Amino acid sequence: MDDDDISVRVGVRIRPQTPREIIDMCHICTTVTPGEPQVTLGSDKAFTYNHVFDMESTQGEIYENTVASLVESSLEGYNATVLAYGQTGSGKTYTMGSGFDVDVKDEQKGIIPRAIHHLFDGIHSKIQKAQSAGTLPPEFKVSAQFMELYNEEVIDLFNPSYSKDKVYKIHEDPYGGIQVKGVTFKTVVSAEEALQCLRLGALSRTTASTQMNTQSSRSHAIFTLHIKQQRLAPSEDETEEPSNEFETLSAKFHFVDLAGSERLKRTGATGERQKEGISINCGLLALGNVISALGDKSKKALHIPYRDSKLTRLLQDSLGGNSQTVMIACVSPSDRDFMETLNTLKYANRAR
Ligand code: ADP
Ligand code: MG
Repeated sequence: MDDDDISVRVGVRIRPQTPREIIDMCHICTTVTPGEPQVTLGSDKAFTYNHVFDMESTQGEIYENTVASLVESSLEGYNATVLAYGQTGSGKTYTMGSGFDVDVKDEQKGIIPRAIHHLFDGIHSKIQKAQSAGTLPPEFKVSAQFMELYNEEVIDLFNPSYSKDKVYKIHEDPYGGIQVKGVTFKTVVSAEEALQCLRLGALSRTTASTQMNTQSSRSHAIFTLHIKQQRLAPSEDETEEPSNEFETLSAKFHFVDLAGSERLKRTGATGERQKEGISINCGLLALGNVISALGDKSKKALHIPYRDSKLTRLLQDSLGGNSQTVMIACVSPSDRDFMETLNTLKYANRAR
């Protein structure tokens, strides 16, 4: 199958061992087959994906191989979604670049900051190209939203205190577009402004400590760029002059740092925490079902269960159809995470 025909592409990223795992002398239980997008867990559990990135892979490699082409498509009006899946501590936030750290070195930067620079560079070069060709340059309007889904409730990360007692409704317009009523849009005119928004939202993100990881996040964080473009419609025939008709293109690009995929008993959560865990699982479960339904060519025309969770409802217009989706499943290489890694590899395998 041609890679372009796949509506959901899946990459697995194995992070390096943490200093703690090295001190504890954990064994590495993942092996990547050289030259193949295949990983074997233990001695015999082999899985193949669209991409497999081993421990030494760089942020730049991940970006170029999974996300760069989606940014190019978004400049042509196509929606896109990038999802980071995996247990707490597996590298989701590092890979996505959504736990924004101002001091991080350039080569350590994750997907979102890279995509932001790529997007604004792309916009500038389109404008310059038109100017040097003596045609009317396209006009772009970019805005950002940053939401968190916590207990099946939407929190506006640009307005978190106001969010506390507000219930945001997810609304579908007659053309199938999804909007969350009342969530703040911030217009951004440069990469720096977009990064500033990312930083702001990341700071106000709700985190609740668990026994497993004090920074553990029990919620999904969704950073969205809306890219509107007004341009002269390209002529049908390449040799002709561009037409005098204007067209408006709109694209939405979602970057999703999903909640930890670990099962509840390992975190030792009880009471209020437990309720969170259950609804988080509902989002991840629904996402798995939607993605596997999208990938199943034989029942393509059939029902896709978007309505089963807030997460899938919110992403509905950017998963499937003409949109491009990439899921990066993050795993630990260490034997003590064997079972969670196996669960993640199975989940990601269903999505292929
Ligand atoms: P998650 O968001 O899945 O809970 P994090 O992204 O916070 O996990 O990663 C856990 C720890 O591992 C962090 O200290 C992070 O900096 C580190 N880490 C994750 N992936 C990598 C990587 N590819 N290279 C170096 N350090 C990493
Ligand atoms: Mg995280």
